[in-house]
Amino acid sequence: MTTSVTGELQRDSGSLAASHGAYAREGASFQTMSRCECQAFLWVLLDERRQVLEGWAVFRGARSPAPAHSIGAERERFDIAWACPICGRNTLRTVEKDALRAVHATVGLSPVA
Ligand SMILES: [Zn+2]
Repeated sequence: MTTSVTGELQRDSGSLAASHGAYAREGASFQTMSRCECQAFLWVLLDERRQVLEGWAVFRGARSPAPAHSIGAERERFDIAWACPICGRNTLRTVEKDALRAVHATVGLSPVA
């Protein structure tokens, strides 16, 4: 029984390390912003496959985490959905792939040994 528990733990930490590695390896990713109906700025950071790495909202100068995900990211025109932490709306915005601004996602991240 002890062996099986240890196996679970090892597998979990291994997959966590793998996903962190994938995140840190990205040289460039994409960032875009939209305005919620409540006037909060909704930001999202996307990887090269346009999957959400991070979503956040800025309202009156304060930044809060905002759950976000992309829908149909393989298409030229796809949607990003935020759960706005300020007003609680589900805010959906259509984004043109070519209009995304490239950023360096590794800025501010610790290098992975
Ligand atoms: Zn809002």
